[in-house]
Amino acid sequence: MHFELSEEQQMVVDSVRAFVEQEMMPHEEAVEQSGRLDPELRAQIRQKAIANGFYSAGMPEELGGGGLDQLTLALMNRELGRTSYAMQMQCGRPSNILQACVGAQREEYLLPAVRGDRVDCLALTEPDAGSDLRGMQCRAQRDGDDYVLNGTKHFISHADEADFAIVFAATGEVQTDDELVKRSGPRKKITAFLVDKGSPGFTVRDGYQSVSHRGYHNCILEFDHCRVPAGKILGEEHKGFDVANEWLASTRLEVAATCLGRADRALDIALNWAAERKQFGQSIGKYQGVSFKLADMKMRYEAAEMMTLRCAWKDDQGTASDSDYAMAKLMSSEMLAYVADEAIQILGGMGLMADFPLERIWRDARVERIWDGTSEIQRHIISRNMLRPLGA
Ligand SMILES: Cc1cc2nc3c(=O)[nH]c(=O)nc-3n(C[C@H](O)[C@H](O)[C@H](O)COP(=O)(O)OP(=O)(O)OC[C@H]3O[C@@H](n4cnc5c(N)ncnc54)[C@H](O)[C@@H]3O)c2cc1C
Repeated sequence: MHFELSEEQQMVVDSVRAFVEQEMMPHEEAVEQSGRLDPELRAQIRQKAIANGFYSAGMPEELGGGGLDQLTLALMNRELGRTSYAMQMQCGRPSNILQACVGAQREEYLLPAVRGDRVDCLALTEPDAGSDLRGMQCRAQRDGDDYVLNGTKHFISHADEADFAIVFAATGEVQTDDELVKRSGPRKKITAFLVDKGSPGFTVRDGYQSVSHRGYHNCILEFDHCRVPAGKILGEEHKGFDVANEWLASTRLEVAATCLGRADRALDIALNWAAERKQFGQSIGKYQGVSFKLADMKMRYEAAEMMTLRCAWKDDQGTASDSDYAMAKLMSSEMLAYVADEAIQILGGMGLMADFPLERIWRDARVERIWDGTSEIQRHIISRNMLRPLGA
């Protein structure tokens, strides 16, 4: 077992870090102030990311992607995590679930998405179906060669920037009669569809104002008798969750790696402040009340980093379980919440001012314990994996 980065991995880390510092960080504040990333600037950053080989870095080379393994991708996402989502997402696309595209879908969705010509968004969550996705109401009914979609999705990230959506809808009901069905209604068979923006009956509306992620918006998607050809099913009918489980577990790894970058930046700011800020005639870092905070922040950061990179390594070996992804996401997102909060404490009042990126990191950190499965759901996954072999 060895823990050193290869030369190639170190090169990726250095070049992504330089890109983030030169091309992204200078624009962060303007985006925070205005709540939007200027479309021209967005296109410019994306083009540079493509030219540098950062865009689609995790996609296989034969599809035109960078072919990075999960460990190197996690290191890259850690670096991207040092900036805001509005910036970072100009690099980190497309959703790897598009690798489930077959036949004509590859030319129409997968390859343009890898090139950066078309942008996807992923639509699972509904107003009445968050953690309980099998209870979703959005449905797709077969009608000749088409399916007819009706329903609403909400909290859908960057649907305003996207050209098409990967939409999960109910195409049937599972015939069981257990407690859960009695309590919450029929469990659904779910199918994933590729739906173009501009399709009749498909509307994208502005979503909610969120405390996190200025310039990276969430949207509401409405489907009103929207016809989608059967050829636009991603995977197989009723097998939407199989596709999601195959490809989306690693998005938890992406969240975990992103949290590392955010925490690392917060820790840097707090450390420098502790060394330079003087009160009662000496650096505040000389007071144990502050220095012990730094020690705990660093220790938790390193633990989360280990767990995240180990999960990425296991993913590359094909041995990562859903519990590994859950632990990495849980550990890293909770570490970030702690580090961001303590960093603000070390800066005192200045920590809350927009003069430093800390208040943004603190705000943005909040969502990481909610999206891609809440902390409670991650704990459920981890404990289920422990208890199930014992028959409990
Ligand atoms: C900014 C933002 C962007 C998002 N982007 C997307 C996106 O692009 N695409 C998409 O599909 N979704 C997206 N989401 C949705 C996100 O994945 C959901 O918010 C998340 O899955 C939780 O669902 P919910 O908010 O409905 O909470 P709920 O499921 O209603 O949960 C509420 C609370 O109850 C707890 N709870 C629920 N069930 C259990 C249980 N069985 N055991 C213990 N506790 C439980 C939860 O942990 C939570 O604390 C986004 C959300 C946000 C906030």
